[in-house]
Amino acid sequence: MAYVEVAVNAPGGRSSTFIYAHEPDLPIDVGSLVVVPFGNILAQGIVVGRVDRPPDLPIRSIARLLDSEPVLSPARVALGRWIAEHYCCALIDALNLMLPPGVAQRPHTIISLAAGVEPPDGLDEGEQIVLEALRQKRRVELGYLRGLLARRRLARQTERILRRLVSFGLVHRETAIRPAATRPRIETYVRLAVEGVAVPAALAALQRAPRQRAAFERILRAGPGAAIPLVTLRDEGVGDAAIVAALARRGLVSIERREVRRDPLAYRDFPIIPPPQLTPAQEAAFAEIRTALAARAYAPFLLHGITGSGKTEVYLRAIAEALRLGRRAIVLVPEIALTPQTIQRFAGRFPGRLAVLHSRLTAGERFDEWRRIRAGEADVVIGSRSAIFAPVRDLGIIIIDEEHEWSYKQEKTPRYHARDVALKLAELAGLTVVLGSATPSLESAYAAERGRLRVLYLPERIEVALGRASARPAGSAGVRGSAADLTADQARGPRARGLPPVEIVDLRAELRAGNRTIFSTPLRQAIELALSLREQVILFLNRRGDSTFVLCRDCGHVMRCGRCEVPLVYHSDVEDLVCHLCDHREPAPAGCPNCWGSHIRYFGLGTQKLEAETRRAFPRARVLRWDRDSASARGAHEEILRAFVNHEADILVGTQMIAKGLDLPRVTLVGVISADTSLHLPDFRATERTFQLLTQVAGRAGRGPLGGKVIIQTYCPEHYCIQAASAHDYHAFYERELAFRRQHGYPPFSELARLLYVDYGEARVRREAEELARQIRGLIRREALEGIDVIGPAPAFRRKIRGRYRWQILLRGHRLARLLARLSLEPRWTVDVDPITTL
Ligand code: ADP
Ligand code: ZN
Repeated sequence: MAYVEVAVNAPGGRSSTFIYAHEPDLPIDVGSLVVVPFGNILAQGIVVGRVDRPPDLPIRSIARLLDSEPVLSPARVALGRWIAEHYCCALIDALNLMLPPGVAQRPHTIISLAAGVEPPDGLDEGEQIVLEALRQKRRVELGYLRGLLARRRLARQTERILRRLVSFGLVHRETAIRPAATRPRIETYVRLAVEGVAVPAALAALQRAPRQRAAFERILRAGPGAAIPLVTLRDEGVGDAAIVAALARRGLVSIERREVRRDPLAYRDFPIIPPPQLTPAQEAAFAEIRTALAARAYAPFLLHGITGSGKTEVYLRAIAEALRLGRRAIVLVPEIALTPQTIQRFAGRFPGRLAVLHSRLTAGERFDEWRRIRAGEADVVIGSRSAIFAPVRDLGIIIIDEEHEWSYKQEKTPRYHARDVALKLAELAGLTVVLGSATPSLESAYAAERGRLRVLYLPERIEVALGRASARPAGSAGVRGSAADLTADQARGPRARGLPPVEIVDLRAELRAGNRTIFSTPLRQAIELALSLREQVILFLNRRGDSTFVLCRDCGHVMRCGRCEVPLVYHSDVEDLVCHLCDHREPAPAGCPNCWGSHIRYFGLGTQKLEAETRRAFPRARVLRWDRDSASARGAHEEILRAFVNHEADILVGTQMIAKGLDLPRVTLVGVISADTSLHLPDFRATERTFQLLTQVAGRAGRGPLGGKVIIQTYCPEHYCIQAASAHDYHAFYERELAFRRQHGYPPFSELARLLYVDYGEARVRREAEELARQIRGLIRREALEGIDVIGPAPAFRRKIRGRYRWQILLRGHRLARLLARLSLEPRWTVDVDPITTL
């Protein structure tokens, strides 16, 4: 016998791994997907290691091998171990991230009614509830019964009730692994099996079977050798499975079953784009990446290039080089940037070799793309966060575009960060990895400063680099320094060249001057100018809805979500009040629900009101809005973008959706309606986030030969975040922000972990949190775990969501894993290592 270590996907099996035996001639290896006996059930498991000598214990055997090839490579299994350790989650949960979509299965328990057994007298309420449910349904899942019992507050007794019913012989209980939720799509095809003179003979023979004859004629029309899908015959009403089977029995047609690929890029054409000549800065960056690829060792880069500096072209060149060396690539882009514009650039450069993975695909499409990737039929995978787990063979390079984006962090267990996972994978497998951004995260910039990432700079807009500077002067704020300064500057970071000038408008001064509208005088004038020149304008406001709070003027009552306590936002399109935390909706009130007064007032500004105000202020302009409400349908993003690119609108109003990666050459003005929305949130990343947003939004202006400018409206014009963003000075921002982080001991100067407890009943939540904080402090003292601060417990900034209270404890310090590994937390606690926000 041979022995292996298995991570098991079953309740009770999540905290460690188990050893199993198997026949040595079975093709079982590290990464194999298996079924194993576990307790008295069968469960799915993944082999994570070989074991030489059997331990001195009774060992059970693997029941089945689920796939003849290992589903995970050894590097991926090692990656899973790192994820489990770093993010403090079960190994099986980390490994399941890498399984084909729909294949990870937990066993589930089925309860069924035994036939012909009379129940004894004296069953209690819970037992009767279960029995009654089974009389109606015969077979149900355990979870269903627990739900029924929960309504009578008996959920905790589920196990006791079932044990008793089983002991009476009244019910059966079995546990099974469900078949995979997603499978290949198999379709039936029909093909002509006769030719020449046999054809008229067949037609004659079918004289008395008109339906078979109709089907046969249709198949005949498809021509010899052509296979027609059975569904086509059915759709055209000329045949079905029975008719085709009858034809096959006569030997006139053959029937085959084939897998068809569900292709997310089907029915789209991508123009082939020949690679342009690289600019000197691009060439220098590419040369370093090329050298690293040839060396086939771990090589992490930070490609720090201003917006519009041609980062994507560097990625494309690097990927082409990897392919030339017989290796493959994964490209991560933020979910929101997975627009046709991005996909087109990659599909146009690598036609037929691209696979796409993101959350808007159907389960079937995702499954098929995954299998295509594993079979080596795609060389370049582009996708959002989870595409880092795609089973790419001979991986050579990983690209993370906009590496600072928050959407790379998964907000449910396992709470991994795709950038950090990518760096780890690259280290384990000896890969080149390129993190690209115009506004690198503080973590990455600091890692670069400390030499853990190699920096590649692209300091100029492409137009400037190609010597085709804007036809309209871009203004002095944007174009600074000369080529000579540039080299001197390179040690400090790039001096942006070719970026649009930014004007800061102090809204306090506007107010003093008597302007109470949402458009300051400079912004209004700039919009008018752009419209008169038939150019396009983007107005950015990072808040959805119409009015951000609704208040009774008589009694001061603010309409709030009953379950989350936050003020409700008025949405004028549906005339509802909407909770932005839980999406609860209710009709806007006619009177105050508190005092019955009728002076309801709407305050605050969201994109819907901005759209309405824009139409009012510029009645001749065509206005388009792009936010989560206006783009909820599948394909809506594409449609809005297409309309704007085709100049079917003059002004685009939107939230951060418009900030990402769009290349819109006719946009000459970007107006930031309020820079302050996200600046004052009580979160250590609030400033960084605001800086990134402002820089990205500003980067949408002046990308074409028309040039452009940016106007930022703010109540705090002196704030370093706004100052640095308007000067396009990443370095100034970085220095200030880093000093702040150092002073307060926040990342990158420490690790941070957030422990969050969420439940009904604030008193209980608070007790739990206080109890854990006490335990942790005790543990730190006893074990002398120096350098770990415990902050809290305290209610989270979002204190209540969907009726459940949220209390948190923050851990800050070094090597937090020492402490986290020692905590045994009850399941309602979530652990978020490297949290992206602490709100
Ligand atoms: P970034 O990703 O840094 O925002 P892009 O890669 O989108 O910048 O480049 C901006 C524009 O410049 C795109 O339209 C791109 O096609 C074009 N471009 C990039 N590199 C070159 C080049 N070397 N020659 C000509 N055009 C280029
Ligand atoms: Zn709510």
